[in-house]
Order: sequence, then C-alpha cells, then structure tokens
Amino acid sequence: MKVAIVGSGFGGLSAAALLAEKGFEVTVFEKNEQPGGRASVYRESGYTFDMGPSWYLMPDVYERFFAEFRKKPADFFELKRLDPAYRIYFGKEPVIDVPADLDRTFALFDDLEEGGSEKLKVYLASAKEKYDLTINEMLYRDYRSIFDLFNGKLLLQGAQLHILENLEGFVNKSFSSEEARRIVEYSIGFLGGSPKNTPAFYHIMSHIDLTLGVWYPAGGIRAVADAIYRLAESSGAKFRFNEPVDRIRVDNGRATGVITAQGTFDADIVVVNADYAHAELELLEDRFRTYDRKYWESRVLAPSAFVAYLGLDRTIAGLRHHTLFLDDDWEAGFEQIFDPAKAAWPEHPSYYVNVPSQTDPTAAPEGCDTLFLLVALAPGLEDTPERRERFFNQVMDDLESKLGEPIRDAIVVKRIFALDDFRDRYNAYHGTALGLSHTLFQTALWRPAHRSAKVENLYYTGHYTHPGIGVPMTLISSTIVARELAEHYRL
Ligand SMILES: Cc1cc2nc3c(=O)[nH]c(=O)nc-3n(C[C@H](O)[C@H](O)[C@H](O)COP(=O)(O)OP(=O)(O)OC[C@H]3O[C@@H](n4cnc5c(N)ncnc54)[C@H](O)[C@@H]3O)c2cc1C
Repeated sequence: MKVAIVGSGFGGLSAAALLAEKGFEVTVFEKNEQPGGRASVYRESGYTFDMGPSWYLMPDVYERFFAEFRKKPADFFELKRLDPAYRIYFGKEPVIDVPADLDRTFALFDDLEEGGSEKLKVYLASAKEKYDLTINEMLYRDYRSIFDLFNGKLLLQGAQLHILENLEGFVNKSFSSEEARRIVEYSIGFLGGSPKNTPAFYHIMSHIDLTLGVWYPAGGIRAVADAIYRLAESSGAKFRFNEPVDRIRVDNGRATGVITAQGTFDADIVVVNADYAHAELELLEDRFRTYDRKYWESRVLAPSAFVAYLGLDRTIAGLRHHTLFLDDDWEAGFEQIFDPAKAAWPEHPSYYVNVPSQTDPTAAPEGCDTLFLLVALAPGLEDTPERRERFFNQVMDDLESKLGEPIRDAIVVKRIFALDDFRDRYNAYHGTALGLSHTLFQTALWRPAHRSAKVENLYYTGHYTHPGIGVPMTLISSTIVARELAEHYRL
C-alpha cells in the first residue's frame, strides 16, 4: 500500500514513522528544506534556534508515542525537568518563579492569597481528574458523531467536564488574586485561545504544567523532531524536501496520488499534514472539499505571532529558561487578538521570552545567549518591515526597562519571523501560527475530521484535527490516523 504524506511537521513525521513501521510504503513531500514544519531549526553564527515549540509538556504522551516503536524518549534524547518551570513578570511588579515541585508551588500560592494552597489543591485535583479522563477516554479516539463524544462513561462525567463554562469564570471562582489567576490561565496560550473563548474543561493545562512539569529535551525540540525523522527513515519512509504538493489527485472519488513540479506520484492513500485550510482550498477542486471557504472564514483562528530570534554576545541575568511578561492590561490584549473589530498590533503586549542557552550549551557560543521572543498577534494583520521594526523596538524598550539591563547592544544575530512568514513558509491560513483555537465548537467532534467526507482514502493529521494544537497532540492525531489505516487495510 503506497501512502503519500503532504508535509513533514510533527504530524507528517509521526504519521510517516507509524505507517512505515506498520508496513505501508511511505513517501513524504515537504515544501521546505527540512523536517519539523513549525518546529524548524534556524542556525546562524554559532547560535541555534528552535523556530517554534520550546515547551516539552505532557511527557507521558511522548513516552506512549515512542513505545509504539518499543522505544523510550531516553533512547533518543535526555530529558531535564526545568526548575523553576518558568518565571513570570507581572506588569512592573516583582517577579515570581513557579517551582518544579508542588510543595513549593503550594507555598507560593499561600503567599499570593489567603488559603491559596488549599484552593490550588482543589483546582489541581479537578484538573488531574479531567486529564486522566481525557487521556483514557477522549484524546486517542476519533469522533464521527455526537454518539462518539458522549459514550456511557463520558456522559456520566459530562456535567463535571465544565464544557459549557468558560475558563475565565471557573478561574475567577477558584482564586481571588490576579497573580494566582494568571498562573493558571496563561497556559491557555498553548491552545491558541483566551480564557473567555476556551471551555473551563481546559483547566487540565494546570495539571500539565504544574504537576506533570515543564521539561527540556537536550538539544532542544529539534532533537525530538530528529528522533521521529530517524525512526521514519529507519522504517523505510522516503522524504522529498523542497517539493511542495500542487494538487491532490482524485479519480472516481478516490485519492490516487499527488502532483508536484516534478510530476505525478501515484499512491493508494494520501495523508495531509499541511495546513488543512490550504489543502482543502488550494490542493483540491471545489467538489472534493469537505469544508468550503465559508466554513474556514467562520472559524476562530488561533493567533499568529511576532517572533524575534536573537543571538547575544553576552548572557542576560533577569531571565530564566522560560520567562513570561504578563501585562496589567492582559484582557485588552486578548481582545486585540480574538475580537476582529479590535484586531491590532498591541500597544502594551504580554510576551514570552525563551533562553535555551541557559540549559543547553549547544544553543549559543560560550558566554553568550540565544534568545527567542514571542508576542501573540491577531492573524491577518498588516505586516510591513517598518511595522515589525517599530514593534520590535517597542517590545525591547519594555523588556530592557523591566530587566533593568540593555539588550539591544548585545545583538549579533537578529531574525524576525511574523504573520506573512507563517503564511509564506508553511502555507498557514491568514498567517495563523497555531491553526484553530480550542473553542467548544472546535473541539473533538467539531474539529475538522481526520477522514475526508468527499474523497475516499484522503486523511488529515496535525494540529487542525483532533485532539489539536501542540506537539504531543499532533503525535496523538497521527496515532489515530495510523491506527485507522492499519485496521482498514488489516496491516
Ligand atoms: C511559535 C510557536 C511556538 C509554539 N510553541 C509550542 C510549544 O512550546 N510546545 C508545543 O507542544 N507546541 C508549540 N507550538 C505548537 C506546535 O508547534 C504545533 O502545534 C505543531 O508543531 C504543528 O505540527 P503540524 O505537523 O500539525 O503542522 P506543521 O508543523 O505546520 O507542519 C505542516 C507541514 O506541511 C508543510 N506544507 C504546507 N503546505 C505544503 C504543501 N503544499 N506541500 C508540501 N508540504 C506542505 C509545511 O511546510 C510544514 O512543514 C508552537 C507553535 C509555534 C508556531
């Protein structure tokens, strides 16, 4: 059985590895020059940047993925738990380090508000319960109808899943201090949503970061992509880089291959990892689309981003491996991202800074830092070199004033990657960095399907599909698709 995979992001890489291991003959077509997709690598003058993901969360999911190959993550890369997990600057207030162990986190919450540790214990117990239920009953399953969503066990627990309440309301009931609220809310950024548009069910994110921990794979996230790439190749998958797919071929209602500038490639099955909207709108004729243009225009898109990759000729003291700068006016910040009427480049953005060189000597020359700065932005904003430069200086003014230390004079490498780059490099719909938000009606059954409703043998994997955004989720997405194909073809 020949499978053509369109795209080699984590979704395409994991699908290739799983399908090749099950005996399919796999060829992957990738538009860009390297595997990893949004987790590409940029190297310049001795500095190495993971261009996308930097948080290794849900180690249990990676373990389960590598177990499919009778391997462990440790067979490929060493994992280190970060302590502090991350640092937060609240407006101009003093910083808070969120520790790696729960006892110290409980003590921190007692400092933040009266009864903070007890409240956090209740919150985390609820988050753990939902996480366990999610992992065991929801994440690894495909959804075709409402009956799949509410099987007996889930129906019993449905009311407790908090799917009709938003995260903001749930958090406000749980904590009274702004700081405690933000510690449990910031992680919703990983799901490309805001506390207002994300169901309270996703408070599982606090079990994920506070209890399961924030980890770093030695060599960066690129070491994880490389491990899966090697697994796929060793099982026989072939990769064709710099070869974008121009068309998915359909004959008599079946996917029969892909067309690239090099010609036609015949396949029995096509698995798309490229952005779903791009594939449906640009690689298929109208009549073969499961979702039309109107459908995509009505989706809640996850944010795009402004990312600065900076190589510094010295180290910076006030930052940790992960540091969040949460502005006082962070509600207005979410509105500027998610409310189309207010979409704008923010005046006072919240942002995230990653300094992998604090943990990883291969990230920067000795005595230097590799710094990654990210600001979430509304997708589709006007993007010009002048706008970028102004915004860069605006954010750097803020960062330098909060750290009390100049940074710009230490820059020896600088690359900005923003809205239009996401569109041009990854074919991202309206330049979204993360795909589709996790609103209620873009979760599980309501996310774009793994299997085309119009074309036989056409499948989709990756962050647009269930279970959604984030590297671990894309591994699960491919696990679902590979399982279905193996069952269907009895391999
Ligand atoms: C800046 C940033 C930070 C993030 N941080 C984290 C984090 O810390 N932790 C985490 O877990 N997740 C994080 N994420 C999310 C995570 O990176 C994504 O959810 C995940 O990598 C998506 O993988 P994917 O395979 O679905 O899509 P992609 O990585 O986009 O892969 C799709 C691939 O398809 C290719 N393609 C597109 N069109 C075509 C075509 N026509 N022909 C051939 N190939 C094509 C693209 O070039 C790309 O390689 C982050 C994402 C971004 C952008």
